[in-house]
Amino acid sequence: MPYEAIYVVLGPGPVVLTCPACNTRVTTYTRTAPNPMTHCLAACLCILGCWLCCCLPYFCVPPIVRHYCPRCGAYLGSCS
Ligand SMILES: [Zn+2]
Repeated sequence: MPYEAIYVVLGPGPVVLTCPACNTRVTTYTRTAPNPMTHCLAACLCILGCWLCCCLPYFCVPPIVRHYCPRCGAYLGSCS
């Protein structure tokens, strides 16, 4: 029986894989979400009084790319 890895290394772009939820070969669709680190950094800068710099992490820290199944909407993995 051939073994097929369900979880592959996900890149920043759409990936073709077999969705473990609906067991269908799909091309993932991606959504970007702010990196949780970004909020921490921004909060730290705010606390330190750097009001003007607190939005800088949103430009410097790359967002997390989340992959979803276009058929059933299952979350398949992320790439930061
Ligand atoms: Zn699916």
